[in-house]
Amino acid sequence: MALIVQKYGGSSVADAKQIKSVARRIAATKATGNQVVVIVSAMGDTTDELIRLAYQVAKEPSTRELDVLLSTGEIVSSTLLAMALKSLGYGAISLSGAQAGIQTDAAYSRARILKVESERVVGELKKGNIVIVAGFQGITEEMDITTLGRGGSDTTAVALAASLGAEVCQLYTDVDGVYTADPHLVPGARPLAEIGYEEMLELASYGARVLHPRAVELGELYKIPILVASSFSDSPGTLIHGGVSMEVRNRVTSIAYDLNVAKLTVVGVPDRPGIAAAIFESLASAGISVDTIVQNASIEGITDLTFTVAKSDLRRAMGVVKPIADSIGARQCVSDAKLGKISIIGTGMQNTPGYAARMFSALSEKGINIQLITTSEIRITCIISEAKVEEAVRVLHRAFELEIAE
Ligand code: ADP
Ligand code: ASP
Ligand code: MG
Repeated sequence: MALIVQKYGGSSVADAKQIKSVARRIAATKATGNQVVVIVSAMGDTTDELIRLAYQVAKEPSTRELDVLLSTGEIVSSTLLAMALKSLGYGAISLSGAQAGIQTDAAYSRARILKVESERVVGELKKGNIVIVAGFQGITEEMDITTLGRGGSDTTAVALAASLGAEVCQLYTDVDGVYTADPHLVPGARPLAEIGYEEMLELASYGARVLHPRAVELGELYKIPILVASSFSDSPGTLIHGGVSMEVRNRVTSIAYDLNVAKLTVVGVPDRPGIAAAIFESLASAGISVDTIVQNASIEGITDLTFTVAKSDLRRAMGVVKPIADSIGARQCVSDAKLGKISIIGTGMQNTPGYAARMFSALSEKGINIQLITTSEIRITCIISEAKVEEAVRVLHRAFELEIAE
């Protein structure tokens, strides 16, 4: 008897009909003699709707209250799924994140899981129940409800799989797996049979929302293979695991894009020690994540400092940086919120020349201007105009021949 952890995303449980269909899939897994733990997201666009509602009653909703509000979305779907399973004749129980022992820090809206005390889940499995856990939420030591960040149900699933010692964590979504690019944007995109944790982490971190980056990190840390597959078909899906050979493919694996990018430049910064530290320490204390950072070569002791943040953080970042810029005698702070990020990813490009040149020339042939460039060993990212991002994804998919199977 195997222990199987499955997660169903919001689009898989968008209405009563789909909840009943997911219940039948879960029942089939249980019927073959497995123990089953299911993590579920909120139905359809529930989380977006709850956020909209909060902003209708308050300009800056309390982060504590917002997390409690958002956690209700997953409570609704988990209870309905348990009811649907019971009516099929299966023993099932829904548990909130707190009841399932998901303990987190107190960073509302982006809480990190500190530990999973899975005794209750194990107890219910021993009784023969299918356990349905509300994803995306946890509880602090002070018994306050938290959420893990958008898309966080994936992370709940992998954390529970690790804590229960499951052999695999199956994430069911609305596409047939991880593709060479977002299949809703690139008609020729192909599903990948497998991908390594390292590539998947870059892909998820640089915009492919098919998987929450922290779920991939946990999978790698606890060596849990993750299967991404469709809840609407029986296609095999994509297996994310550690055994993928780094050098088999001398090619780009996938393209990611992210439209949530804003750029901030401090112009005319005196070039002396301590200034970057002052700016970035203050941003860190305000809980603002900074991505790309570029400092120009200094001319006559004056330089420009440019960095990117999420669009939603731009106003706060400006509020933090402007007073520092004024106090050090910088000339001005300017920002651009109409940007996007486009990345090519693949372990095959490690130590292999030519990928960057091919990327830049494919973009330039279409007149797409590159504003900033960053790289890791297995990724090249260009910051470009937001309006050009979708075209750029299709151009690069073609330039790297990703529609052609290996
Ligand atoms: P769920 O509600 O199941 O968690 P999400 O909407 O969070 O589903 O993630 C699935 C979506 O991710 C797909 O519908 C697809 O548009 C998008 N996506 C972006 N990049 C990729 C990719 N490389 N492969 C597959 N899907 C991708
Ligand atoms: N419901 C949450 C969201 O929409 C969490 C998730 O779906 O994983 O972000
Ligand atoms: Mg998701």
